[in-house]
Amino acid sequence: MVFASRRISRSVLRQVMPTAYATGMRRLFCFFLLARSISFAQDRITIDAGTVIDGKGGVHKNQQIVIEGSKIVEMRPARGKSTYDLRAFTVTPGWIDTHVHLTWHFNAQNILVNGREDPASSALYTAENAYLTLMGGFTTVQSVGAPMDAAVRDRINQGSLAGPRILTSIRQINNATARPDPDHPAPPEALREYVRKTKSEGADLIKLFATAGMGAGGGQNMSDEQIQAVCGEARNVGLRAIVHAIGDSGIRASVRAGCTSIEHGNFVKDDTLELMAARGTFFDPNLLVIHNYIDKKESFPNIRDFKPLQDALAPTAEVFGRARAHHVKIVFGTDAVAGAHGRNAEEFIYRVRDAHETPMDALISATSAAAESLGMGDKIGAVVPGYEADLVAVEGNPLEDITAVRRVVFVMKGGRVYRNTR
Ligand SMILES: [Zn+2]
Repeated sequence: MVFASRRISRSVLRQVMPTAYATGMRRLFCFFLLARSISFAQDRITIDAGTVIDGKGGVHKNQQIVIEGSKIVEMRPARGKSTYDLRAFTVTPGWIDTHVHLTWHFNAQNILVNGREDPASSALYTAENAYLTLMGGFTTVQSVGAPMDAAVRDRINQGSLAGPRILTSIRQINNATARPDPDHPAPPEALREYVRKTKSEGADLIKLFATAGMGAGGGQNMSDEQIQAVCGEARNVGLRAIVHAIGDSGIRASVRAGCTSIEHGNFVKDDTLELMAARGTFFDPNLLVIHNYIDKKESFPNIRDFKPLQDALAPTAEVFGRARAHHVKIVFGTDAVAGAHGRNAEEFIYRVRDAHETPMDALISATSAAAESLGMGDKIGAVVPGYEADLVAVEGNPLEDITAVRRVVFVMKGGRVYRNTR
């Protein structure tokens, strides 16, 4: 922006001040300085905030956040004169959801679209889900994952589509991936090859299934060697690997294999939590997804029996306290599927109400802790000079009433305002 404005100034100068341009180099220099300072002022945004929850455990009252380009450059006492007056609101870093499925959606009859659909519909629904997610206060998501994620990610990065910053696994690796035939499991080398292929197609991370789903009991269904091959090769090519694991044995095998994060982890045992803390494995338990299935039963005719989901609610709520007691790094993922996009913040409320997390712990999970798990802990997830200007403002204070997260009034991502509905 600064450079564009300087170029324009020079051409304007040639037209309106030919004499000065030809002879008065000193005046010219002064004009450039002036042009620079004008464009500098335009690039600078200030936000006065009544309360800032900084994402790292700090709370600051009456602050002014100064933004230049995409970044926060300063936080100082509020001045009463700013580009955006958010003194009546609470500002936090933009929220991060480490587990969503952006392509999942219902059809016009409110029934899950399960199976093939035309690419145009898939693209539009994915873009729509991305938009809803951003409007709900989430400026970064990890989508795990479908090929359409990458197309939407790239359009958002170009600035031509409104949505959160997207990291995607492009596909999910499971016990049927790279099998020579249905009777034989994939050899580890074939899985390694598959990881490399996924990386070459532009994946930001690898997603794998170490266990069956909740309805099938959550037992380990990839061998230890297969899990080691996937997570080991991911590490070799510089990608993180996050693992769907419901039951304890699949969780344990994944932690031992050095995988980055355990998703769901509903039935993890205490000694495995201890191992996760020791190995620095991130933990991403989710409540919204279970409620979403149960609350919208008629929309999921593919699920025959909801009892395993119902039965998992109490143990999943309970796993948060056990993980905290073992000092496991808990991040914030919703496993948002159809019906949950844009409602990701409900996870905060389930965590505080049912899992008895403190609002501050839940907020740190969704900001600095989630950022760290994505390998972006020095770029996003905190209101700190030098970080990307990803900010969300809510009516009320979520530390006093967690339902404030439903009342998003302002969303900025990378210094650009996407929502301002005060
Ligand atoms: Zn999932």
